Amino acid sequence: MPDFYSEAQELIEFTRSLRRDFHRHPELGFQEIRTAGIVAKELQSLGLQVNTGIAKTGVVAMIEGSRPGPVVLLRFDMDALPIEEETGAEYASQTPGVMHACGHDGHTAIGLTVAKLLHAHQSELSGTVKLVFQPAEEGLGGAELMVKEGVLENPHPDVALALHLWNEKPVGWIAASPGPIMAASETFSVRITGKGGHGALPHHAVDPIFAAGQIITALQSIVSRNLDPVETAVVSATNLHGGSTFNVIPPYVDIQGTIRTFKPEIRDLVLRRFYEVVEGTAQALGCDTEITIKKITLAVDNDPEISRKVQSIAEKMFPDASIITKFQTMGSEDMSFMMDDFPGCYFLIGSSNPQKGLDAKHHHPKFDFDEATLPRAAALMAAAAVEVLNG
Ligand SMILES: [Zn+2]
Ligand SMILES: [Zn+2]
Repeated sequence: MPDFYSEAQELIEFTRSLRRDFHRHPELGFQEIRTAGIVAKELQSLGLQVNTGIAKTGVVAMIEGSRPGPVVLLRFDMDALPIEEETGAEYASQTPGVMHACGHDGHTAIGLTVAKLLHAHQSELSGTVKLVFQPAEEGLGGAELMVKEGVLENPHPDVALALHLWNEKPVGWIAASPGPIMAASETFSVRITGKGGHGALPHHAVDPIFAAGQIITALQSIVSRNLDPVETAVVSATNLHGGSTFNVIPPYVDIQGTIRTFKPEIRDLVLRRFYEVVEGTAQALGCDTEITIKKITLAVDNDPEISRKVQSIAEKMFPDASIITKFQTMGSEDMSFMMDDFPGCYFLIGSSNPQKGLDAKHHHPKFDFDEATLPRAAALMAAAAVEVLNG
């Protein structure tokens, strides 16, 4: 195995300047035109065959080894968020209201570094590396659209790898955990329709505000009363709208929220109870309901064998690292669509540095990470890819 960590450290200026450039010029999901242009140009400069415009702004390139072998897909996401940056960094966003607040600027720079590292060792590879730069990870369905547009064909990957910088934890922390690491996510929208009327004459109305209160409370019984207590799920109502003044009972109320689960059978149970609780409670109070549930992501389910490979590479590469073998978060990731029917590993790599004040959480206007994590992430990804190919 090449010494990818040393090689990645030698490339730090390349990685950092790309990351800062992407950070200065963030682009929202499916609008990553400038970013994708730089990605394509960098990949072409290595002499790679590059396909652009997949799922609008996605970029795919192939590195062919000198010997036949498996196909490993490496996914890096490129999109920013609609947040006004407040870091005050020298490389802060120059686009008002748009910011790389999740670290995808880092992911894109890491991906281009991985391309350089693996390209330099092309003749030692058995098989094919499929580099995928994905648009619109932040809830807009970039991965699903890439899959629909054939990213998993010609060639079909045998294994998929992806990473996320993780600002909840410091540089040196790595989680390559077998089993579900990120949750399946669905959004719900519920309209509760009653009958509007005078606030002082509730007996002439059917009050959807009262019904909404009962429904929101009753929804919390799904996790606390229907789920086996050793299992886990989240049902959160996060958006509530109804009425416009103090003396009018409105005709309807809208509730939105999110459901997170790890296992398909738990998801089925939660969704079944969701309909029963909402419809039953509303009916008891004389209201009608309209329920829309939309699947956003599947659970990211890490293959045990591939996860163990990533863990053992990380242990060898970073003897001082804190490598976590059991980790789960109710966060979600559309990478799940790219590793749904074949094995993969999605790992998290610590990126915060509280001493330097670089520990704001993901999606916060002050989010920023310690760039010392960049060569670590690139080296680990490159080595994991070689391990999958050359075994
Ligand atoms: Zn995010
Ligand atoms: Zn993210």
